Amino acid sequence: MTARTKIVAGNWKMNKTVAEAVSLVEELTKELAGFSGCEVILCPPFTALTSVAKLLHSSPRIQLGAQNLHPALQGAFTGEISAAMLREAGCRFVIVGHSERRRYFGETDAFLREKLLAAVAAGLRPIFCVGEELPDRESGRWPAHLRSQIQGVLHGLPVDVLSAIVLAYEPIWAIGTGRNARPEQAQEAHALLRKEIERLHGTAVAARMCIQYGGSVTPQNARELLSQPDVDGLLVGGASLNARSFTSILLSVQ
Ligand code: PEP
Repeated sequence: MTARTKIVAGNWKMNKTVAEAVSLVEELTKELAGFSGCEVILCPPFTALTSVAKLLHSSPRIQLGAQNLHPALQGAFTGEISAAMLREAGCRFVIVGHSERRRYFGETDAFLREKLLAAVAAGLRPIFCVGEELPDRESGRWPAHLRSQIQGVLHGLPVDVLSAIVLAYEPIWAIGTGRNARPEQAQEAHALLRKEIERLHGTAVAARMCIQYGGSVTPQNARELLSQPDVDGLLVGGASLNARSFTSILLSVQ
């Protein structure tokens, strides 16, 4: 079996001013001095990226990610940020296809595909999110939904793009609700996603791909979720906004 390095990311969403971000990162870097259990990624809002990047210089285990990008190289896209700008700000990762982007900003599979290509071309690793709504979970249609999200965006992408991607399974019914997927539900979905990647892109790419779980992860449920064979990391929202809870999640990684 391929050993996959675990990757835990904190998605701060639209939280933390620059001053608050700096104070959180100062606490985290203190708590995590010497920590080597997994790769850690912090995804602050755009405005805090450069300040956080400066603080992370001396913490090579903690890397910087952004929450979004625009696929164009430059131009008349008011309010948007390009992949090159994120790289310049110190990012190594970028979240693509979060359900909040799909739901509130109407992002389509075709647009997300462009974002993945632009991110990898600029040297960023995308954290690509997929996940089903509650009715799909309850009616048993979730496997078809996940397969269609994978096919719709990842079908036919070049292998260098696929190899750069971290996949995140984020059931929408679990995001910010306090109701996480049970470990066995997460495992079943992750195994299905890996099978789908294997069908589209072969065994080697699928075996290497890091698949994170996201949705109401807490210090209490992190260890059990991470104990599943196909759960290779976590994408954490609310619990990443506090140094103590995020550190305690990170310490769950074996
Ligand atoms: C998220 O939005 O990516 C997320 C997983 O949020 P939460 O952990 O708060 O459910």
